[in-house]
Amino acid sequence: MIVAMQEFATEEQIDFVIEKMVEAGINVHRTTGTTQTILAGVGATSAIDIEEYKLLSGVLYVHRISSPYKLAGRAFRPEGTIVTFRNGVTVGGDKVAIMAGPCSIENRDQIFLTAKQVAASGATFLRGGAFKPRSSPYAFQGLGIPGLELMREACDAHGLLCISEVMEISQIEPMLPFVDCFQVGARNMQNFNLLRELGKVRKPVLLKRGIAATIEELLLASEYILAGGNYDVILCERGIRTYETYTRNTMDISAIPVVKKLSHLPIIGDPSHGTGRRDMVAAMARASVAAGADGIIVEVHPNPDKAVSDAAQTLFPDQFAQLVNELRVIAPAVGRTL
Ligand code: PEP
Ligand code: MN
Repeated sequence: MIVAMQEFATEEQIDFVIEKMVEAGINVHRTTGTTQTILAGVGATSAIDIEEYKLLSGVLYVHRISSPYKLAGRAFRPEGTIVTFRNGVTVGGDKVAIMAGPCSIENRDQIFLTAKQVAASGATFLRGGAFKPRSSPYAFQGLGIPGLELMREACDAHGLLCISEVMEISQIEPMLPFVDCFQVGARNMQNFNLLRELGKVRKPVLLKRGIAATIEELLLASEYILAGGNYDVILCERGIRTYETYTRNTMDISAIPVVKKLSHLPIIGDPSHGTGRRDMVAAMARASVAAGADGIIVEVHPNPDKAVSDAAQTLFPDQFAQLVNELRVIAPAVGRTL
């Protein structure tokens, strides 16, 4: 259930409503926007008589949430979620976020050079995997924590935020000192135990759409994180598997406006995994921003053909620089900045 408080509701009025919900055995999630507090009640709400709540002082309206996702739905935060990082960079606000870097962290020179190049072109996040989900157990599996140490240094040297994939619960704690944002990969979108643990963390999470997940399943997956009280979730469309084989995946651009309509969470586009082809990445990145994405995440490497993973979809630094310049033209056309 959603209880929306009036614009000038007092703390006493808000607390009174919260207490009544808690006494009824409901978990209450509170969000305060610029003018209004909204209380979302999850759990055993079917036995509740919502008419009683409508009469409480300070209450504007009360309704039941009909969608299966309760906290991810737009009603919880009608104005949209803006995730703010420690250096003031935001995802979900006016500015389109640019995340770029190699598929995998390979060595010190590679990650430092990539950081320098993508920062110079306008990226605010450095991406790079240290724990890699590879289809083959014989393929490079990532450098682990020593890789993250290198990436953290490279980020700090170039004023970038650090985003990297977490594959299992035991990696959360050791990763905490190094990353600004956890990435949950497509293969783990429905690793519900991992999602629950990330709900307890107070650090943003980028949740990628599963390889064969519906939009509703993506939103329900995000609900696991939100239900733990971690509201800093960013969604990512990274292509889904269809019968088309020309591209690695089918980049579902339509998921971007659908998510914007259904949810308050920011959503970014990953045209690298979405296409699997270097020559298609820029077009799908431009399309993502034009469709209303809050950012893009793209794979860039100083020497893409030598990249140890995802070489075919990795951009040359100058291709990335050109793409960012194109996005600087597109963003204002759709009411955003870059
Ligand atoms: C990645 O970002 O390198 C990655 C493995 O992505 P995904 O989980 O979308 O396949
Ligand atoms: Mn990759």
